[in-house]
Amino acid sequence: MRMGIMSETWLQTARRVLPNLVRLSRQIRPTIHLSSVSDICLEQLNREGIKAILWDVDGTLMAHHAGRVDPSIAGAFTALLRATDLRHAIVSNCQEARAAELGQMFPEVPVVLGYETKVGCVFRITRDVETKWWSPDHGRLFGKPEIVSPIRKPSAKLIESALVELNMSNEPEAVLLVGDQYFTDIVSANLVGVRSAKVPTMKQSSFPIPVKLSQQLETILYRLKYGRPSFGWLEETKIQHTAED
Ligand SMILES: [Mg+2]
Repeated sequence: MRMGIMSETWLQTARRVLPNLVRLSRQIRPTIHLSSVSDICLEQLNREGIKAILWDVDGTLMAHHAGRVDPSIAGAFTALLRATDLRHAIVSNCQEARAAELGQMFPEVPVVLGYETKVGCVFRITRDVETKWWSPDHGRLFGKPEIVSPIRKPSAKLIESALVELNMSNEPEAVLLVGDQYFTDIVSANLVGVRSAKVPTMKQSSFPIPVKLSQQLETILYRLKYGRPSFGWLEETKIQHTAED
């Protein structure tokens, strides 16, 4: 059953990405490549005017469906969470059960999921054990609407919803999305004008085989297009919108 749920998740992502591969491949360039979440320092964020971070979780902060932030980056991550004036949200392509786990793991950080429903697109925001549903068209919803399909990265809508939650809709360039995948995390950031940091996938061996393959393939595609990336904050890294058009 669990295997079935995981398969469904990657299949849904594949269905969204594959038909649009050529168009999306123009949006895979991150603002910056970092070799680890530990390389994100507050001073640099302040210099770049970053006020909020959108986090991918699996592969970025921990192994696939792990129960806690990987010890190798836990200190750096906690320091960012504790920083005053820095807002955070989690944008994950996970299922609801995993979102509930993440809500408990990061009680102070909203976890944003999106769905197409009979009443249009609707977002589920989990903060700790509390869940609220809202829609850009109808505002706050009371009760779970009938879901047609999930909205997943690389959807611009999902990121826009996180910006609404963080009150950052008017300044997407002051938001940094941190993720490990080009065709989900980085594309969705570029589609919205949010800046992005690409980190290597953490504990790649923990992922289901199709996901592992897609991670390896997209790395090859990126290198064919842009060459081997340089890691770290570069001279005038002035993080900026890096999509081609
Ligand atoms: Mg990931």
